[in-house]
Amino acid sequence: MGQNTDGQDLIDPYGRTVRDLRISVTDRCNFRCQYCMPAEGMQWLPRAEILSFEEIERFARICVNRFGFNGIRLTGGEPLVRAHLPDLVERLAGLGVDIALTTNGATLRLHAAALVAAGLTRINISLDSLQRERFLELTRRDELDRVLDGVDSALDAGLQPVKINVVMMRGINDDEIVDFAEYGRAKGVTVRFIEFMPLEAGDVWTDDLVVPADEIIETISEAFPIEPVVRGNEPAERWRYSDGNGEVGVIASVTKPFCGNCDRVRLTAEGQFRTCLFAVDEFDMRSLLRNEASDEAIADAISTAVGTKWAGHSIGQVNFIRPKRTMSQIGG
Ligand code: SAM
Ligand code: SF4
Repeated sequence: MGQNTDGQDLIDPYGRTVRDLRISVTDRCNFRCQYCMPAEGMQWLPRAEILSFEEIERFARICVNRFGFNGIRLTGGEPLVRAHLPDLVERLAGLGVDIALTTNGATLRLHAAALVAAGLTRINISLDSLQRERFLELTRRDELDRVLDGVDSALDAGLQPVKINVVMMRGINDDEIVDFAEYGRAKGVTVRFIEFMPLEAGDVWTDDLVVPADEIIETISEAFPIEPVVRGNEPAERWRYSDGNGEVGVIASVTKPFCGNCDRVRLTAEGQFRTCLFAVDEFDMRSLLRNEASDEAIADAISTAVGTKWAGHSIGQVNFIRPKRTMSQIGG
């Protein structure tokens, strides 16, 4: 069970220490990726339901000060469509922990310098195809050039490392594995291939669409010699190019789940707390934040929620229950 005494670790029923908070700052997005959102008809949360920066900061402060969280990642929807995001980054950076961002990169050129000035330390940019037509088909937006420029802007702003997240889908973009490896090597960015997970809009996931991490690594190793890097407490299996030209990673959420090392919890844009991406239950932190609950009461609620964290998801097994919400509504 979790503890709620100042500075105590928050330990779940399986002995894992929870230290990483993912915060969705909006459910809105300027893209409509095929696997994440329908082309039209998304119902956005009313503005009043979305947590304010003050509410997010307070919640994060409790996680950091009471439970020693050491990392916060901002996500969405698309976090850069939330106005004044650097102001939130600055507030959170004031907590003294590592602040990261996951973005589709389309408007990053406009914000990269301000984000870094506010204290952003790391960035992941999602990019599933380097081919313009395919990118348009996958995201329903003709924005490849702006995303590529967004990657350059992250490097120009001094973000290090810059990681590129590529969701691999069989028959859709799995012919681009080596192209992405070449792109990462040429740019000095770390490409991380992610197995496609059953969270998408449209209910189209089947395990036939999953390209196993082992196959991705084999394909890369046929093009460039690579060697494994000892893995820490992170979801990505990492490999370094033997010629010293950077790293590449795979996130095998489906074929080799890393639930045993999971140290994450999530807060949705409207303040629902989730102990797993695939969790069925949510814990309403917004009503506590808005009803003058004490820090103690909020810490207790976090602790109680973490006390229900399960051992892991069961994607591909008969007992797997697909969450009612998609990735953009949860915060990927
Ligand atoms: N809009 C931002 C972006 O695209 O980076 C942040 C939110 S997005 C939901 C976070 C990440 O989730 C992206 O890298 C996206 O590719 C990934 N994602 C969305 N649906 C997915 C799925 N079904 N399986 C695997 N990854 C998924
Ligand atoms: Fe938007 Fe990210 Fe979902 Fe694509 S994956 S629709 S960019 S939230």
